Amino acid sequence: MLIIVDDEAFLKLVQMVAGKEGARAVDILLKKPNLSDEELAQQMEMDVKELRRILHKLNEQGIVSFDIHRDKETGHRIFRWRVQKEQMIGFAKTQMRKLYERLQGRLEYEQSHQMYWCGTPGCRKYTFEEAVDIFFKCRTCRKPLSLHDNTPLINALKNKIAQLEKNLQ
Ligand SMILES: [Zn+2]
Repeated sequence: MLIIVDDEAFLKLVQMVAGKEGARAVDILLKKPNLSDEELAQQMEMDVKELRRILHKLNEQGIVSFDIHRDKETGHRIFRWRVQKEQMIGFAKTQMRKLYERLQGRLEYEQSHQMYWCGTPGCRKYTFEEAVDIFFKCRTCRKPLSLHDNTPLINALKNKIAQLEKNLQ
């Protein structure tokens, strides 16, 4: 498999599915594996119950796993957490495939629709049908609409898609 995922890219993907705190927990565990939930909560300065909820979610996604130890003195069970590095590739691949499909859909849309625009930054673009309905006048600023050249966007989408394709092969 050709996917190269660095920690930073991985953390961005983690944040997408498990939020900021989830990504923060993973970041710490990447640097210091096998922390217990108590130790990790201390480092993150967050409530241990809240952290356990996040760890559980990360575990469901296969991002982290745990070993159970027993405290010799108290006999309590201790969960020690680590990031499943081997799973990073599979996880990243799934996320990339989702992104790829989204971009592909957007590309098809851009290629099959001519868009009309008033040229005012912040104003939206209209499809031909919408532009006809409003007599080619922008609903927001009332300026006339003209055909918008979406070639730069199409090229940018194609580039990104080609990049993802290379990674997903
Ligand atoms: Zn406008």
